[in-house]
Amino acid sequence: MFEIQSSQALILVVDDDAFQRDTVEIQLGSLGWHQLKFATSGNEALAHLDRYGAQIIAIISDLSMPDMDGLVLMRHLAQRHCRAGIILRSGLHDEILNSAAGLAYAHGLLILGVLPKSSTHMQLAALLMGVSEPVAQAPLENCQGAPLPERLSVGLANGEFIPWYQPKMDVRSGKSISVEALARWPTAVGGMTGPTRFIPAIEAAGLADALFLAITRTVLADLWTWRKQRIGITAAVNMSMDTALNLDVPDQLSELVEQAGLQPSDLIIEVTESRLMVERSLAMETLTRLSMMGFVLSIDDFGTGYSSLVQLIDLPFKELKIDGSFIQRASAERKAEAILTLSILIGRKLGMSVIAEGVETTEQFEFLKSAGGVMAQGYLFARPMPFEACTVYLQRH
Ligand code: C2E
Ligand code: CA
Ligand code: CA
Repeated sequence: MFEIQSSQALILVVDDDAFQRDTVEIQLGSLGWHQLKFATSGNEALAHLDRYGAQIIAIISDLSMPDMDGLVLMRHLAQRHCRAGIILRSGLHDEILNSAAGLAYAHGLLILGVLPKSSTHMQLAALLMGVSEPVAQAPLENCQGAPLPERLSVGLANGEFIPWYQPKMDVRSGKSISVEALARWPTAVGGMTGPTRFIPAIEAAGLADALFLAITRTVLADLWTWRKQRIGITAAVNMSMDTALNLDVPDQLSELVEQAGLQPSDLIIEVTESRLMVERSLAMETLTRLSMMGFVLSIDDFGTGYSSLVQLIDLPFKELKIDGSFIQRASAERKAEAILTLSILIGRKLGMSVIAEGVETTEQFEFLKSAGGVMAQGYLFARPMPFEACTVYLQRH
């Protein structure tokens, strides 16, 4: 049974059909929610929002309404930086409901779920678990499609973020010797959100460590499964600079590896050098400790940041990943080719494994073969894929 802890918290029910409004009122009443506002149209709903603001903590809305339908309403909610949890309740087909939820998500709204009109009060109760009391000073949200911090924390707590894997190939043997874990976040409509959409929001919300540990935990479990199937590879995880600034991370990581029955050397940690200059000493301490523990450090996107070369001297990197832009431009631009060739040489001279990222064409692949002793990663070999698909791929390669 739900209790409303604050007399301020309101739920807004938007439906042009009086019978449906009554049904929702009865269901909410049976769950202990009595502080309700009703709107018969999108415009009336917006008027309530303008009046009550953050007091409205949840909106249960129909989709098909005259004048302003639910889709237009959501656009207005996003423009008003609305932070209420949204439940779409409609008699329309599942697929339409789901794509409407996808739209709400794309707007950066906090979508709690969708319900058919025939839904029970218990289904409603399950979705309302996601709403919380409004905070006194609600921070302004970035509503440019970036996920809301609450949604990210809930997603992390529910284990929604998962790794997809992209193999790293040995150019000479054509075998996969390692995989890189790339974070993915399933959407309400069955698609996947890529990291470029949620990593900045995760970092801004101070959740980088939580994501790192969550992804690493799954990667270790997957590595263990592969080991049991005699697939002897290592796996790489991406570490955000925020995580490298946390001095507790090495011990936490080492505990995870031990619990998984694996060795630190089974795990490669990729860090992007462009941010390595910020709070350098802290990051250096964490990375040096990780290296002392036996974790393999990899410098990611090599060549794109500043002072890449000094990082190679100061930090114990064992792997160098040349940014895809150099590979992609090398065939047409002599300068890019020169930098690519030199990066390979530097890596090799320093005794590092060198990986060319973003290999998309056979021409690029041939170039790398002629350069010799390089590993490669890119769409030409395999795109990032879920664990099951990667297992099949690894069994073949
Ligand atoms: P990254 O570490 O440089 O990863 C390589 C990115 O290039 C991936 O994008 C991958 O899907 C993409 N890619 C691979 N092969 C090709 C190719 O042949 N051509 C092109 N054009 N692209 C290719 P994705 O998965 O969207 O990841 C983007 C970035 O997000 C990553 O760049 C990494 O910096 C970051 N990231 C991914 N997962 C995590 C994570 O778990 N934690 C953190 N902190 N960052 C992550
Ligand atoms: Ca990477
Ligand atoms: Ca990279």
